[in-house]
Amino acid sequence: MQTKSINFSKYSSFKIGPKVDVAILDKDTKDISAYYLIGSCNNTLVGNNPPPLLMLSKEYDYIKIEENKKLKIGGATPSGKIASFCKKYNIANFEFLSHLPGKLGGLVYMNAGLKEFEIFNNLLNIRTLSGEKSKANIEYGYRYTNIDEPILEATFNLQFGFDANKVQLFKKMRENQPSTPSAGSCFKNPPNDYAGRLIEAVGLKGYMHGDMCFSEKHANFLVNNGNGKFEDAIFLIKEAQKRVKEKFNIKLECEIIILDKSYLTFE
Ligand SMILES: Cc1cc2nc3c(=O)[nH]c(=O)nc-3n(C[C@H](O)[C@H](O)[C@H](O)COP(=O)(O)OP(=O)(O)OC[C@H]3O[C@@H](n4cnc5c(N)ncnc54)[C@H](O)[C@@H]3O)c2cc1C
Repeated sequence: MQTKSINFSKYSSFKIGPKVDVAILDKDTKDISAYYLIGSCNNTLVGNNPPPLLMLSKEYDYIKIEENKKLKIGGATPSGKIASFCKKYNIANFEFLSHLPGKLGGLVYMNAGLKEFEIFNNLLNIRTLSGEKSKANIEYGYRYTNIDEPILEATFNLQFGFDANKVQLFKKMRENQPSTPSAGSCFKNPPNDYAGRLIEAVGLKGYMHGDMCFSEKHANFLVNNGNGKFEDAIFLIKEAQKRVKEKFNIKLECEIIILDKSYLTFE
């Protein structure tokens, strides 16, 4: 299999991680059982000792309109490219991607979204190495799907009417979030509560460990103030989980995915 050297301290949105060779999944790839698949690592914390990693080749970076009814998007297509395409061709329902980083495969796998706007809203089906799977046959919910294979392509319902006001609305929603390197929300919101509120309530808003901290601007954003290390991030994640469990008896579940052989949150 071909590989590409990736420096995760540059590639990942956290700006943390080593330089490693990542295998490339292309049309000839058959066996991927030894690998963990990544997209653009906007939701991922890469440790010093990651499992063997795999990423989709550039051949999966495309957008096609089919029969004026469907939008077919390759798994390696970045969100910004999708948002620009939809603006150019006056396509509705993807405005939220202008302010949500990731590649299509990662966005679908995470059922990424902002408030009620989620990538699954207009999804029809996905294509994986084992063929097509319709939305009805996928379990999904808040930042969750049961997809267990690389998403090579996804097909969406095509509706026209790009709404520039929505882009402004999503930009505004982002104003309370830090621009310092992070991976978005660190924890999932527990039912009927907010992870940010809980982190603040246990005294961790703005709390620094090394160069990592739970942001003063939004406590559920774990941010890297410059030279943050994987160990510092893990320390803060565990500290928040421990304090929230002790004080509220709530288990904070990571939304970010931790890729390190010593911290097995990947499967
Ligand atoms: C500043 C900031 C703000 C954010 N705000 C939001 C937000 O408002 N809402 C939100 O939902 N998310 C948000 N995120 C998180 C992130 O944008 C999403 O989770 C996005 O879906 C990650 O895509 P990725 O390609 O970077 O995935 P990665 O981080 O590379 O991977 C995430 C997961 O997806 C899986 N995956 C990746 N590619 C594929 C594929 N082709 N097939 C199957 N599985 C795959 C990986 O195995 C991994 O488990 C934010 C992140 C940042 C940095």
